[in-house]
Amino acid sequence: AWNFAAGPARLPDAVLERARDGLFVRGADGASALERPFTGDAFRATLHSARERLAQLLELPAGYRVLFLAGGAMQQFALVPMNLLGGAQRAAYADSGYWAQRAIAEARRYCEVVAAPGFAGAAPLAAPPAGPWDLPADCAYCHITPNETVDGLAYPALPDTGEVPLVADATSCLLTAPLDLARFGLLYASAQKNLGVAGLCVLVVRADLLERAAPAVPAALSYRRQVEADSCLNTPPTLAIHLAGLVFDWIAESGGLAAMGAANRRKAATLYAAIDGSGGFYRAPVAAAHRSPVNVRFQLADEALVEPFLAAAASRGLHNLRGHRQVGGLRASLYNAMPQAGADALAGFMADFARRRG
Ligand code: PLP
Repeated sequence: AWNFAAGPARLPDAVLERARDGLFVRGADGASALERPFTGDAFRATLHSARERLAQLLELPAGYRVLFLAGGAMQQFALVPMNLLGGAQRAAYADSGYWAQRAIAEARRYCEVVAAPGFAGAAPLAAPPAGPWDLPADCAYCHITPNETVDGLAYPALPDTGEVPLVADATSCLLTAPLDLARFGLLYASAQKNLGVAGLCVLVVRADLLERAAPAVPAALSYRRQVEADSCLNTPPTLAIHLAGLVFDWIAESGGLAAMGAANRRKAATLYAAIDGSGGFYRAPVAAAHRSPVNVRFQLADEALVEPFLAAAASRGLHNLRGHRQVGGLRASLYNAMPQAGADALAGFMADFARRRG
């Protein structure tokens, strides 16, 4: 059976196996990975090796810090302005879809939101143009959502925001392909798509931005305080960090981000070919160059067939294909842990369903 959920999502087989064999076993210290104190040497070694491995995968440039924080990306919608506004009154946000809009709504509680370039097209849907974006210099940062998980939309290229630091919600794309980190002031991603399990949010931040946190930011939510405390100012999500370390190891053993990117493009091409080659039975609402490689969104020309499609797919072991309630239709998420065989099975089913019902 294949699980195409957008998150929490499938974990790599090797990670599930290593977790099964390693997580629930007590060591000489009388503790398993679930039970170890976050202040002890054993957990600190796990934390440091996860961070080292992540830094290697990302080819982290000098001057950046990595944080492993509790919670998800939605907390960051508030914590980014709390930590990065400094004395500024406003920040720029690009409206590229559902998650960008959620981030904008939260930011409005803390600052004036300046509209950065948004959608470049509605039908078919297209991401904002790469720029250069002409942003007011008093914007503390510019926030983008490079992969819109719900809309199935991905930026083909990062925008040029000049002197305004680029901040990204990379929740559904971090580690799915190589990334030029030096382009960013900060990026964040919750873990339950490509980095492990829910409960952890990974941040990468340029050190000079850490000085901007407002004095009133609660200590555990202050990027600066957490960097100073090695992500351990309070109890971090130890199990999720342990699992993220296993996922980072698996990515490295599988060829790193270049290999992830190539495999993800191939899986996505399989599904988009099934959609585009269906003679209009299926339709992708996103412009070809702007389609997400990891969240393949599609529709049936005859909407009445959505429920029969989902039922028939589930009976063939193809699960969690319903689109987000906000946009409807169908969606297949093909994160790093989904093998090509999963995409092939879905493409085969789609062709078969179109033949029978078209
Ligand atoms: N941002 C993006 C792009 C997402 O895809 C999601 C979840 O799907 C979120 C934010 C929210 O993440 P969380 O539920 O971990 O807060």
